[in-house]
Amino acid sequence: MKTTLREAKSIITKSNIPEIDFVINPYIGCQHGCIYCYAEFMIRFTGHKGDKWGHFLDIKTFDFSKIKPQKYDNTRILLSSVTDPYIPLELKYKNTRKILENLVGTKAHISILTKSKFVVRDIDLFKKFDNLEVGISINTLDDEFAQIIERGASKPTERLKALKEVYDNGIKTYTFISPFFPKITDYKAIIQETLDYTDSYMLENLNFRPHNAPRIFKVIKDSYPKLLPVYEKFKRDHTEWNLIALQIKSYCDDLKLNYKIEFHHGGFSKS
Ligand code: SF4
Repeated sequence: MKTTLREAKSIITKSNIPEIDFVINPYIGCQHGCIYCYAEFMIRFTGHKGDKWGHFLDIKTFDFSKIKPQKYDNTRILLSSVTDPYIPLELKYKNTRKILENLVGTKAHISILTKSKFVVRDIDLFKKFDNLEVGISINTLDDEFAQIIERGASKPTERLKALKEVYDNGIKTYTFISPFFPKITDYKAIIQETLDYTDSYMLENLNFRPHNAPRIFKVIKDSYPKLLPVYEKFKRDHTEWNLIALQIKSYCDDLKLNYKIEFHHGGFSKS
């Protein structure tokens, strides 16, 4: 992992993600290196041409004491959109923790989203906020398959354990079933597994982009060769998602879940 310290002009930035006013990305790049990642476009904008996503990390330097918590009252903040706030190197650099420490007192709604078991380190801090929720993103309960598609992230079993710990400490939680891999993501099993410690659910489809499609198809070819025609179909025709969305809706309605289906729009990490 190539790491560099990089001075940031701002650390909480305006967002163009629907329903999110500000985003916080404590790092540029992401150690998790998910094969489908939509944030890879960051390579172009941050002078990392030639670098491979998942193999570099810029640690933003900033005077965090300049953060004014009241400035964000009544807004919605997402942490993070184009990196993961609890990558392993967060344990060393603590940018996420420093930002949160300086945001204590805000009346903003803060949504933490991660694929990392290390989120539990900050439970003490989460308790200092009135309006904060913690979500984990997950698309399979199979640790081995997750290792192939999200090689640097915590295992799904570890993420779930972390989410439960967060919930047991009285923090609001959500499970973000994303990205949904057709015929692989067993959303019912994930929901059943998390029901006891999840306040709400969000589901997002897999988006094929020119940069990630070859990698996705390689994984499907290697791990689920029989599904190749299915993935070709989903890539060609977006309406294929409609049936899955209807099935999810019916299942979640039956269970009276608090849920949101975010299919088609391109996801949190929009390029
Ligand atoms: S954790 Fe998120 S930002 Fe990081 S590589 Fe995976 S999808 Fe991209």
